[in-house]
Amino acid sequence: MRKKVVIANWKMNQDFYETTSFLRNLLKIIFEINHKKEIIIAPSFPFLHISNQILQGSTLSIAAQNIHQMENGSYTGEVSASMLKSIGVQKVILGHSERRKHFSETNDILIKKIKTALKYKFIIIFCVGETEVERRKKEHFLSVKYQLEETIFHFSLENISSFIIAYEPIWAIGTGKTATPEVVQVMHQYIRSLFMDKYGKNISRKISILYGGSINDLNAKSLFYQKDIDGGLVGNSSLNIEKFMRIIQS
Ligand code: PEP
Repeated sequence: MRKKVVIANWKMNQDFYETTSFLRNLLKIIFEINHKKEIIIAPSFPFLHISNQILQGSTLSIAAQNIHQMENGSYTGEVSASMLKSIGVQKVILGHSERRKHFSETNDILIKKIKTALKYKFIIIFCVGETEVERRKKEHFLSVKYQLEETIFHFSLENISSFIIAYEPIWAIGTGKTATPEVVQVMHQYIRSLFMDKYGKNISRKISILYGGSINDLNAKSLFYQKDIDGGLVGNSSLNIEKFMRIIQS
């Protein structure tokens, strides 16, 4: 059985009060429902520590939204893997298209980040996805394959259990344009086949592949119903506790 995972990517949203009150309320509600999914919250750096303390002893965990590729040094404004580890963070999102776009994160940089994250034994939520133009030109499979080949596929079989994959078509992120469940299923099946060709059947069956891109409480159920969609990476809709709860219940 593959892990079902729902991740809240809060991006640069939620201040101290909003973060802490959301998590305390979420915990109260979560105890009341019978869920079997892994729920991960990715707040901003300043609130990771308090978030971890609030979620201690629960089934929920936190993830960082980024790490720097270097282990330490003169990188003003950056946060290292060991700093995060020292406050109990064990998961990190890498390869998000917003970081590729706004912070020029290339595949080469991502390889370095993955190496560092693996060294510090992080679970890596790794994002891939095509642009709107690539999909229009029917190059979406090629684009996703290339992103995997130039990053994760540089790593050996024994590292692959540290990854959760998030397929996030760039044209669907924060746009309200969700990919249809059928379109996502086809891509997830394809991604799984790439893992099978590279690492074998066992890995391809076990690896969780999440969808991300304008998931909301209305479309989550039909997406999660697909056999190769193992959950979601949720941006905007994870900022609203009622919506986020309905997504978890989906
Ligand atoms: C994301 O940022 O990973 C994301 C999927 O955002 P949204 O749900 O807002 O499209």
